[in-house]
Amino acid sequence: MLQTVSAASLKEETATLLGSLGLTEAEFTGGTREVRSPITGEVIAAVPETTPEAARAAIAKAAEAFRQWRLVPAPRRGELVRLLGEELRAGKAALGRLVTIEAGKVVSEGLGEVQEMIDICDFAVGLSRQLYGLTLPSERADHRLAEQWHPIGPVGVISAFNFPVAVWSWNAALALVCGDPVLWKPSEKTPLTALATQAILEKALKRFGPDAPEGLSAVLVGDAAIGELLVEDPRVPVVSATGSTRMGRIVAQKVAARFGRSILELGGNNASIVTPSADLDLTLRAVAFGAMGTAGQRCTTLRRLIVHSSVHDALVEKLKRVYATISVGSPVASEALVGPLVDRAAFEGMQRALAAAKSAGGTVHGGERVDVNGEASFYVRPALVTMPAQTGPVVEETFAPILYVLRYETIEEAIALQNGVPQGLSSSIFATDIREVERFLSAAGSDCGIANVNMGPSGAEIGGAFGGEKETGGGRESGSDAWKAYMRRQTNAVNYGRSLPLAQGVKFDV
Ligand code: NAD
Repeated sequence: MLQTVSAASLKEETATLLGSLGLTEAEFTGGTREVRSPITGEVIAAVPETTPEAARAAIAKAAEAFRQWRLVPAPRRGELVRLLGEELRAGKAALGRLVTIEAGKVVSEGLGEVQEMIDICDFAVGLSRQLYGLTLPSERADHRLAEQWHPIGPVGVISAFNFPVAVWSWNAALALVCGDPVLWKPSEKTPLTALATQAILEKALKRFGPDAPEGLSAVLVGDAAIGELLVEDPRVPVVSATGSTRMGRIVAQKVAARFGRSILELGGNNASIVTPSADLDLTLRAVAFGAMGTAGQRCTTLRRLIVHSSVHDALVEKLKRVYATISVGSPVASEALVGPLVDRAAFEGMQRALAAAKSAGGTVHGGERVDVNGEASFYVRPALVTMPAQTGPVVEETFAPILYVLRYETIEEAIALQNGVPQGLSSSIFATDIREVERFLSAAGSDCGIANVNMGPSGAEIGGAFGGEKETGGGRESGSDAWKAYMRRQTNAVNYGRSLPLAQGVKFDV
């Protein structure tokens, strides 16, 4: 499976792609922040970093832009997002390819990420004619009681490397139709796709015309320190932060300390339960994508497989075969299904977890390094680990392709294992027994934000609200009524009579 791609050719292709999306060379060369492609591990660009002064100026500009943008009618704001969707369609191939180069995703996943951006734009355009409040019956005669939703202010978006552009779009498409400017601090590992996305948005802004104020959208390039400027600034009422639980714990407390609102999308440790009534062929395919897709670097990656003892051994045998033969390789030089890990730290984290699993009594299949593109890049064979109990690394999120397999006897035990970790993002059950399915979906079932049936935990659609409980942070993004987090709610009581009845029958006659 040795397929070499040269670092020079990736660098050249990156420059061509960025140029085709309208970036000038100065925007991605000669800066101080080096960008490496996980495909080769070599430097492909060096972007200028945003200084703290420039970041504060961008926040001030966004606050100013808000004063104008909030007055633009929401359906007109939706027109900007419609144009963004059009520009994303036009730029899909180039941006998708950049995602592949910068984040190391295989081609269909790079393109899929841009498709997700297009989908959320479509959703947000429709939403721009909704954003509805309620009318409620008042207890007082000649009164109307209602609620309405107003824009809230600049939204800070902090995103992770593994969804370098889609996460921005889940937030930005909603925030923009809700009347809010967007300040984006992308992962320090993936600034190029962020700058490319901003260039695509600028094309839409140009077509949209003067209704869109300057400073409506900005990208702040840098590390945690630049992110913290957004986190600490009261001019940014909402901070949407996607990344590790470690990061979320810091961000949540700082935003709360200034009474800001945070939307937290943090780590997952997702499980699937395989019951005796499961369709095992379908299960096998779902487990393969869920656990090995994106080289195990999705927040919704399947990390724990909880299998009934009657089907455990048969399924593990089948999985061993799939794990031993799955194609691992360069996303640009092969059709491999599993691409690289993001960097050396990810590889070392994986090896540490595998060693800990062995110490805890686990049996490891796979997990070794695969030489695809030399020393600087980190490709691995995904690891399948049978465990005697849910201990050690099994209760942690290791951001790499490790699937721990556990055995269970009763559905109650399986659900307790599924819920017995600190994270609560996604989960699924494979079953055709309706009783077990409904138990899993009931109040006594999965405690996750997402619970699927006869599919893996990974690969959410934008129409539903996305997010999870416990250490995953409790935030919801994307579809359903997630838009409410980007607006402020106002309750209006209107008296259109001539008397002044007080609520709860209180008398106060002067
Ligand atoms: P990370 O936590 O290292 O970084 C995420 C972002 O947070 C980066 O932009 C980083 O610069 C910023 N950051 C870090 N510390 C900060 C601080 N103190 N203040 C402000 N910003 C700070 O995560 P990562 O390695 O890029 O991504 C992998 C993690 O993200 C995994 O845990 C994964 O589960 C999680 N993730 C969650 C979701 C979700 O929707 N729940 C989606 C994608 C990724």
